[in-house]
Amino acid sequence: MPEQLSRKQLINIATDFGTPVYIYHAEKIAEQYHKLKHAFKKCDSRFFYACKSLTNINILKWMKQIGTSLDCVSINEVMLGLKAGFEPQEILFTPNCVDFEEIEAGKNLGVIVNIDNISILEQFGNRYGNSYPVCIRLNPHIMAGGNYKISTGHVDSKFGISIHQLRHIERLVKSTNLNVTGLHMHTGSEIKDVNVFLQGLEVMFEIARHFDNLEFIDLGSGFKVPYQEGDTETDVNQLGEKVAEAFEEFEKETGKNLQIWFEPGKYLVSEAGYFVVKANVVKQTTATVFAGVNSGFNHLIRPMFYDSFHRIENISNPKGAERIYTVVGNICETDTFAWDRKLNEVREGDFLVFYNAGAYGFEMSSNFNSRLKPAEVLVKGGEAKLIRSRDVFEDLLRNQIEVL
Ligand SMILES: *Cc1c(COP(=O)(O)O)cnc(C)c1O
Repeated sequence: MPEQLSRKQLINIATDFGTPVYIYHAEKIAEQYHKLKHAFKKCDSRFFYACKSLTNINILKWMKQIGTSLDCVSINEVMLGLKAGFEPQEILFTPNCVDFEEIEAGKNLGVIVNIDNISILEQFGNRYGNSYPVCIRLNPHIMAGGNYKISTGHVDSKFGISIHQLRHIERLVKSTNLNVTGLHMHTGSEIKDVNVFLQGLEVMFEIARHFDNLEFIDLGSGFKVPYQEGDTETDVNQLGEKVAEAFEEFEKETGKNLQIWFEPGKYLVSEAGYFVVKANVVKQTTATVFAGVNSGFNHLIRPMFYDSFHRIENISNPKGAERIYTVVGNICETDTFAWDRKLNEVREGDFLVFYNAGAYGFEMSSNFNSRLKPAEVLVKGGEAKLIRSRDVFEDLLRNQIEVL
């Protein structure tokens, strides 16, 4: 089992490559994948890494090496996946509100196409009939997930075709002769309760009875990982057991032998990622002590966008007296990473690490305030390699056209 990266390793990388820096631990990613495989060993399962969480080409190549398939939400992610060496049929294309051309582009590249609205489904059926299989993304109307913003299965959600439109789907399938090989749902992120998945699965089974050519049911993701001490994670072993039973039961009843697919993002890469920053300024005000670091929501937006909690540690002064800090960035906007956090005394120049930074960290970064995006480093076999250079000033002007 891979240990966490040590303080010393993190400090060495921060010293060698500079800060802010994202660091990913390849073996930890593999460990997470194997945990899932093991949990679902009784099922005929496939796991599609939801690469929107982290798309560095080396991460994609590593996923291919360890054996995952790939879930892509844009045609560019599809093309990155192909470039990384995935076969088209190892790529599931699940875009939302894209135009028909983008769906066609996916089809022309030979990937598995997942359609999430009636309009596109109809166009696809009219154009291709049963000559190219499709998966249909459904909205099961289950409210779940850590946060409304990351919950996608509720009534107001823009995702998927409502299960209440089943009649409409059936009419379309019949009239255009569509070959529906899969049903998909993804209700949100950070679902602790395995019953939510099982409830979703029951809904999918009901719908599955209406389709003759079905080969798989895709339950999306929502696997939660621990973010803080005492935090729980989705009990994948229990889920695996229950899902296996449910599929067996379903097969007995209907004679249909279906695969189960999942699309983990966070589960595979969150804990494998570390974000190391430097404390620029320690600022005492009347109300609090701020630790101002050389980063902001331009690099890690989850705490501000989703109110997510990231464990922070002062790796430069692990024995320092504990004090309470509000950790903020250097952006001209309120960008508080953490309120009232107990840290070992922070001195200017110390390195602080944010844990659980693999998923939706670098991937959601921007150049806000004309600041540079951080570097990315991959640790594999104990060796640290730069896998993305830090932005340089010229990157800010790239694509700009001076007309004045
Ligand atoms: C974002 C997303 C995922 C991954 O969610 P995680 O919480 O990162 O595991 C899976 N499937 C789809 C369709 C998504 O949009």
